[in-house]
Amino acid sequence: MQAAMMYGPNDIRVEDIPRPKCPPGGLILKVMAVGLCGSDIRNMATDSCKGRYPHIFGHEIVGFVDELDAEVPKYKIGDRLYIYPEDHCLKCESCRDGHSENCTDPGDYIARQGGFAGYVPVTKEQLERDSVFELPTGVSFERASLSEPLSSVYACQENIDITLGDTVVIIGAGPIGCFHAQLAKLRGAARVIMLEINDVRLAMTKRFGADFIINSTKEDPVQRVKEITEGRGADKVISANPSVQAQAQSIYMARQGGIVVFFGGVPKGSLCELDTNYIHYHNLWIYGHFGASSLQVQKAFELAISEKFPADKFITHVFPLKEINQGIELARNGEAIKVVLLPNRSIAIN
Ligand SMILES: [Zn+2]
Ligand SMILES: [Zn+2]
Repeated sequence: MQAAMMYGPNDIRVEDIPRPKCPPGGLILKVMAVGLCGSDIRNMATDSCKGRYPHIFGHEIVGFVDELDAEVPKYKIGDRLYIYPEDHCLKCESCRDGHSENCTDPGDYIARQGGFAGYVPVTKEQLERDSVFELPTGVSFERASLSEPLSSVYACQENIDITLGDTVVIIGAGPIGCFHAQLAKLRGAARVIMLEINDVRLAMTKRFGADFIINSTKEDPVQRVKEITEGRGADKVISANPSVQAQAQSIYMARQGGIVVFFGGVPKGSLCELDTNYIHYHNLWIYGHFGASSLQVQKAFELAISEKFPADKFITHVFPLKEINQGIELARNGEAIKVVLLPNRSIAIN
């Protein structure tokens, strides 16, 4: 099978390798679509595997069952499945409390073979947990691959209850920022204000429902948000970018009693200097967000595969797997919103 092998930071080679063996009690999925995620790009550009190479990344996986261990009665050859990368134990305190995003025994999807390959093994444990979803007839593999990036966005907006009439600031117009803008509009936000430093990206956010766009290198974003909100500030501010400076500044865009979420990961070890006195006197609620609970994963999948969700606007580029490096380049320079790779096809068939 073809696989995009990472040999070290920024060294990705598409090679022919033997296909994996079917795990006991598990199955082999023929990968039909796999999204290229910002976190994949980050992992493939750094020494994420601490020297243990080659490694295959890719965690936004959709395909069909190609091989089954005899002991898996639940699925059959040809079933079309979406695999959420992080399976949860459903037994620990967090899982039982409805917060499986905090599971103490999650599946380690970074250590497993990923989906930038023709075939991927799905273990017995994954099948027994909460991470496998069947695609209804008529739903394309490409559309279903958006379920994974949508899931943490969905979870975040459900947790902070973005609702009818809200003014929402989203800092960072990468793919995730675009998901945030679209979802906020679907949830009824009255105004979505996008902040970004890249003009190409900023212009693209309009198609996802951004009502106002601000290039924060060209105008003072805090002042502009205040102008747009008649001096009040936004109900909810989501920092979806890797900058601690953006996090520090984000609090001044929220209204009295507003909510600020640190959604995007920042470089490991970097610290943020926060005006906690401002937070205190403005009764701000500061949240961190990562992942999604089991049920939120399911609900995000259901939304992604429904007609309500404009998948075509998100998938700007579809490439065969061998062009992964070109996909990475387009995602990096902001030209692409979502790149979807096809390890077993050269073109998309919906
Ligand atoms: Zn992802
Ligand atoms: Zn758990």
